[in-house]
Parts: sequence; structure tokens; C-alpha cells
Amino acid sequence: MTSTQATNSRIYTAHHLISTAHQVIERGALVVHDSLIIAVSTLENLRRLYPHAHVTDYGASVITPGLINTHTHFELTAMRGFLDDVEHDFFAWLRKLTLARRDIMNDEDLYVSAMFGATEAIRSGVTCVADASDSAATTIRALHDTGLRAIVYQELFGIDARLAHDQLANLKNKVSHLRELNASSPIPHPPPTLNYPLSTIHYPLHAIHYPLLRVGISPHAPYTVSGKLIELAARYALDEDLPVMMHAAESNAELAFMMHGHGAFADGLKTRNITWQPPRVSTICYLHERGLLDTKPLLAHCITVDEHDLDLIKHHDASIAHCPKSNLKLGHGRAPLSRMLKRRIRTGLGSDSVASNNTNDIIEEARFALLLARANRETSEGAAFDVSITEVLEAATGGGAQALRMEHLIGTLEPDKSADFAVFNLTGTHQLPVHNPRAALIASSSGRDCIATIIAGREVFRNGKVTTIDEDDLRARVIEIGKRLAINEPDA
Ligand SMILES: [Zn+2]
Repeated sequence: MTSTQATNSRIYTAHHLISTAHQVIERGALVVHDSLIIAVSTLENLRRLYPHAHVTDYGASVITPGLINTHTHFELTAMRGFLDDVEHDFFAWLRKLTLARRDIMNDEDLYVSAMFGATEAIRSGVTCVADASDSAATTIRALHDTGLRAIVYQELFGIDARLAHDQLANLKNKVSHLRELNASSPIPHPPPTLNYPLSTIHYPLHAIHYPLLRVGISPHAPYTVSGKLIELAARYALDEDLPVMMHAAESNAELAFMMHGHGAFADGLKTRNITWQPPRVSTICYLHERGLLDTKPLLAHCITVDEHDLDLIKHHDASIAHCPKSNLKLGHGRAPLSRMLKRRIRTGLGSDSVASNNTNDIIEEARFALLLARANRETSEGAAFDVSITEVLEAATGGGAQALRMEHLIGTLEPDKSADFAVFNLTGTHQLPVHNPRAALIASSSGRDCIATIIAGREVFRNGKVTTIDEDDLRARVIEIGKRLAINEPDA
């Protein structure tokens, strides 16, 4: 440690520090240098080791690893509440969403919408998201401007197998454009936000090697992407080392479509003169047969999965984004979280879009995961679903990092990891007295108790404000889009 490093280091402390879901340090602290954590211990130890470091003390709060939202669609944030009237019919819900995005929202609307989603995430202690986007270039611009870490997956649609090669070519064009965006305007390392003289700021190579945004691809779902196109996309992702995300095993309607070729999805294809031969296997088996599991994909939902499906997921080292609130709101049921965790499948939590949630709050998502798992513990079926507070906290942090294959960089507070963390106040009437900070966080709190969010060493949320954008302007623009959606509402 040189004397310059010691001077530029910053200590963050609070009454409690959760370094991993399994470890709480009372009166804990961490030392940040540039974008990295360089030490984690008690405040007493770290003050002795870094006597010149600036200290930020959050008092009666808890510092946690940055929360990770493993399934979002931020471009749809302006549709919060817009689809509530068609939630009883998933096909109608998807159709209304698709028409509104295509016919009413322009590129600027999608930018504002994505930025608002990222702002909501940052305000609730989320530091990293896995976002699937039809307008990925726009979403990347919005996330860059807010300072959030993310994998942005370019969505892919195309259920007519006759067009698969053209659809893949189109995807390749989009992805190469996204990569050019990254290459021509590299994401600059954010400067430290404390009041150091400008001359002391430097931009470490680390930031160039680990930019905050990464590009992936997302074949949307087995009922919107043909088997042929899934095969082509999987091969392309393997060749180009692109992360893959896909909606899988989300509903009984999807299961009926796969097993018997029945239901709303099949009827929709008939009206478009597209023949659908059901594979008569589960979605996960189908994705295995089509080579998609070889990409180690992130699979969103996984509700209608049996033991064999879970074995396939584990065997291929794929990941799952568990989205309990969205699943409940759309009436799809619950994913077998404890079975996933028992198999040590890489599992994180996701909000899905706020069009089906209606908030983007990973603390709340963790509480729902916990309560949903316990819904009927006393039955033999229910007992198999049980999970603990520590397990859902892990899914919200380190598990999410594993699901995104970023555990080398984020998910826990340890030396040499990125300084991605959040601070939650614990003095609310809904939180006191605090016996166990993990329980206070998961069972009593929500994202609205977040008081600071730091991403790669940059304080993107502090003193009640997101520091990277003009929130008042953004709010006004989102309200305007909401009004336009209401006036031009498409028929579902
Ligand atoms: Zn989704």
C-alpha cells in the first residue's frame, strides 16, 4: 500500500455490515480504493490500518453487497399498471404489451422508460441487473447514463421457422452494432464522488477491463422463437461467447403448448398460418435438445419444472432467475426454489418488468420468495419448498452474481471485488427493535429504506438523490408517456 493509496482510500461503516449472506460484522466497515474494495473488517481495525482514509459513517444502518436483479425489462417501465386489466389472460397481456411498445412508444420513450427503471433500481440498493430488451442499443445508452452495472440481452423473436436464417442475420447485425457502441464510446470509469482535488483522481486499468455493461442475447420464449432459430442462436452465442437469457417454463399455458400443441399460443399461430408440431417434452428438455442449455443460459421463471428438468439445468450449469412476485401477479404459480437451492443451481431473484410486478424492489422480492416458499409448509408438498432468510438474502446478492457468472467481481463484500454495495437505514418504526440485521432487512424492510448505493466505487445514490441524472425531469417525462399510453390504449 503506497501512501497515495492510503490517502485516497475511503472507509464506509455502519452498525452492521453483511459481507456475505452468511456473515455479519458488527460495527463493520469496508475500505474502497478507486472502484475496488481493498479491505473488510471492523471499523476499529480499519481505522488503525488506514488512519488517513476519509470515513463515512451511516450509523444505525446495515451495509450489504449490492443487490442483483437477475430479470428486468427496463424499457417497459412506463407500462407500470398499464396492463393490470388483462393480467387474467397471459396471451392478451403479451399482445397488449407488444402492440403498445411497437405502436405508441418511440425510441426516446424507451430511453426514458429504461432510465426510469434503472433509477428505481438504484434507489432501492440494486447495483447490477440482467435486462432483456427489444431496443438494446437504447437501453444500453440509458443504463450507461445512470451508472448501473448490467448485462443487456438483445431480444430475439421469430416463431416461423422458415424465416430463421434471416432472423438470425438480423440479430447478428444488431449485436455487432451494440459491440461497436461499446468500442467507439468506452464506458469511462466514474470518478470518485468525494471531495478530493481533481488532480488525485485517476482512472485504473481495472475499469477498462471490467466495463459496467455487457451485451448478451435473449431468444424470448419457446412460444415466440422457433426451434430452428433457438438452435441457430445457441450456436451463434457459443461461437461469439455471448451470455444468453431466455424465458422458460413460465406457465401451464406454455406447458400445454409444448406437450400437446393446445391453448392460446397454438391458436395464435394458427391464425398466422404457422404450423406448430408440439415436441411433447417439457420446455427444459426441448431447450436441451435444441442445444440452448450448452450456452449455460440464464433461465427466467422455471415454474413448471420437474426433477429431471432441474437435473438437466444443474448438469449444464445453467442459471435461474426466480421471479416470485411476477409469477404470483400473473397467476402462474411458484417455482420450486428450495429444490433449486438444494441442487446448488446458480439462482438469483428477478422482478421481471414492472408491467407484471409492479415494482422493482429486490428486498421485497426476497421476502416474497421466503413467504411463498413457506405458503403450505405443513403439507408434504409444502415442506419441500421451505427456505431460510439467509438463503433468500444469498439469492438477492451472491446467488444473483453466480446466476450472471459474475461472482469473481460482485455479490459479496471482499477485498479485490468491485465496490458495489448498498446501505439500508434500520431506524424506521417498521424495523425497530433490530435483533438480527438479516431478518430486519428481509422481513421488515423494503427497497425504500435504502439510503445509499455505490457502484464500482461511485456514489450513484446518496442524500435522497440519484446523483447521475435529473430525476425531476425524468419523472415528468414518464408521466407524459403514461398519459399517451392511456389515450392510445390498444385493444388486447
Ligand atoms: Zn421477462
